[in-house]
Amino acid sequence: GDSKDGTCKIALLGCPGVGKTALTVRFLTKRFIGEYCPTLESVYKYQTSIDDDDVRLEILDTAGQGLNYWKDGYALWADCFMFVYSITDRDSFQELVQLKRHVESVRKSTSITGILVANKNDLLHDRQVTEAEGEELADEMGCRFYEVSASDGCQMENVATLFHDLYRDYRRARQQR
Ligand code: GDP
Repeated sequence: GDSKDGTCKIALLGCPGVGKTALTVRFLTKRFIGEYCPTLESVYKYQTSIDDDDVRLEILDTAGQGLNYWKDGYALWADCFMFVYSITDRDSFQELVQLKRHVESVRKSTSITGILVANKNDLLHDRQVTEAEGEELADEMGCRFYEVSASDGCQMENVATLFHDLYRDYRRARQQR
């Protein structure tokens, strides 16, 4: 971690199938996954402007097959973390507590910058995790919380906000050091 010169490295973490790739693809291409084929080397580099900062986002989608190669390295590589679960999968929600602890143990620090994301909120009839439960976990983690849908084309702005707000929190944490 600890990138210089406007680079912000983001790792998306969460169980298989929660929509990490879909969120990344939605943010980067404004499209939902379909013809799009995630690469083996799953770090996406994206130059953008956030609050007048020139930012180079590097996004690691840990759903990629490349994760074995990373082992625990991703936890040190990243500046900040997007913890993703699906509202239709209670196990994916519970798993995040362990995932965060693991990141903290690898980094030997409990002050990590993160955001909690509940994906698939278009599937309300299959909901297994309430919004209140998500908020409660975010309180415990000391981070922001959003419910979104990567597949709902009307929520493009919401998905962008996840990445922008995570960058803002990262910038603030850096300034405080
Ligand atoms: P990953 O393993 O965490 O990267 O998950 P993927 O992005 O590959 O998504 C897993 C499955 O969930 C795919 O079939 C996606 O089409 C689907 N999916 C992802 N996001 C959403 C969403 O917001 N709503 C719905 N209904 N399906 C989604």
